[in-house]
Amino acid sequence: MHRARVRGGEGALKLPVPDSHPVPAEIERLRSALSRFLEEEVGPAEDAARIADEADASAALEGWVRARSAALGLYRVLQPADLGGGGVGALGMVALHEAVGRSGCVLGHLALGGDGGLLRFSSGAQRERFLGPVLRGEATAALAFTDAREGPRTTARGRGETFLISGVKAFVTGGARADLLLTVAKVTEHPRGVTGTALFVIPRRTPGVTLRREIRTLDGAVHGEFALDQVEVPAADMIGDIGQGLPRALESIAILRLRAAALACGAAGWALAHALDGARRPHRTGAPLGEREQVQAMLGESATELYAARAAVYATAARAEACEDIETEAAMAKATATETAARVVDRAIQLSGAAAVVEDHPLARLYRRIRPWRIAEGTTEILRLTVARRLLAPEGEPSTSRTGAAAANTSLERPTGGPTGHASE
Ligand SMILES: Cc1cc2nc3c(=O)[nH]c(=O)nc-3n(C[C@H](O)[C@H](O)[C@H](O)COP(=O)(O)OP(=O)(O)OC[C@H]3O[C@@H](n4cnc5c(N)ncnc54)[C@H](O)[C@@H]3O)c2cc1C
Repeated sequence: MHRARVRGGEGALKLPVPDSHPVPAEIERLRSALSRFLEEEVGPAEDAARIADEADASAALEGWVRARSAALGLYRVLQPADLGGGGVGALGMVALHEAVGRSGCVLGHLALGGDGGLLRFSSGAQRERFLGPVLRGEATAALAFTDAREGPRTTARGRGETFLISGVKAFVTGGARADLLLTVAKVTEHPRGVTGTALFVIPRRTPGVTLRREIRTLDGAVHGEFALDQVEVPAADMIGDIGQGLPRALESIAILRLRAAALACGAAGWALAHALDGARRPHRTGAPLGEREQVQAMLGESATELYAARAAVYATAARAEACEDIETEAAMAKATATETAARVVDRAIQLSGAAAVVEDHPLARLYRRIRPWRIAEGTTEILRLTVARRLLAPEGEPSTSRTGAAAANTSLERPTGGPTGHASE
């Protein structure tokens, strides 16, 4: 596993590129504590359980990572302070997720509880029933956003005080084990005549919800495909109003994209450090490979790209900290960082030769793990469209309508999950 090569405490933290964005001391302290936890406890626990892929981890092991992280005071640091969390903002979020990406632990992301995702839009009793347990790690929620490729579109038909929801949701990351499915559906009929997308919280065990199959992806994660057959959902379990489903999903996605970008920078940083390490070692040709100019060019290119990707990620986080809109920047950062990670890991494999394509080599594993990242949470192509359409939109047009324009005809109409896919937690 790739963490095996970076053991040695603070060694895992060493950046192979200049640090363009040093973080405040408190975030640095959290980053060190998290990295130590991942390296000294989570990694060995995964080794002991022989977990190479997330899909192979038991629910008990996953629960242990969450509980142990909570005991160390890490689990809730990124959650809003007014909801009992540590209130650490976007800068801390990217620094900590970059550390997760660099750790190589397949369960590393479980150490950081999400901010509630779409459940943050809940109100009144919904907060007690859904948001609180998810923030505390007592319940898990998965995002059921993407409709199956072949359809049908998921619809909700209003019937008095309930909705009947039908459709097929695919690629629901962690769905088989989740307690709640945060489901986006199009309301097509309603006694008041209102239509539009809406967000519903559906407990996983609700009659009419069937796990059709579990899908294991290249990265070793597992996703549920759910058939929803006239699932009866109380109107009280709709979050927000009819018409707010897609806009709210779009609103939440920017921070998830930034998180994905940070994970990608972490993975790329590890791969580059590995490549540098290899290039310094003796080679059978008589000189370390790092003395060859072609090798130097590859290393230099990886470092340059990683430096740029990190700069984009941290600059976007700084904007988010200043409460500025980051839709465009997060799309840029996610596309840049995930595409960079793909190239940096690929070069690291090339430089390591045959050894790196042996199935359980850490770089071979990383190669598999990062591939879906260019698809989940918005494909690179769709992100480019989002950026371009936003730039092309007439001056002064409100960002929501620009977002809508970007979303039309894109996979955001058939929304997104994440590299870790835990979009909703
Ligand atoms: C690991 C992983 C985890 C996921 N987790 C979740 C989850 O938790 N919840 C959830 O709801 N979904 C999840 N998804 C689904 C994910 O959001 C979708 O896969 C993604 O939005 C792309 O949609 P699609 O797969 O249907 O591809 P499509 O939309 O069919 O696109 C196929 C290809 O066509 C390209 N394309 C499409 N339109 C255009 C265009 N206009 N111009 C140029 N190119 C275009 C795309 O970029 C892509 O390369 C996950 C996916 C993955 C891989």
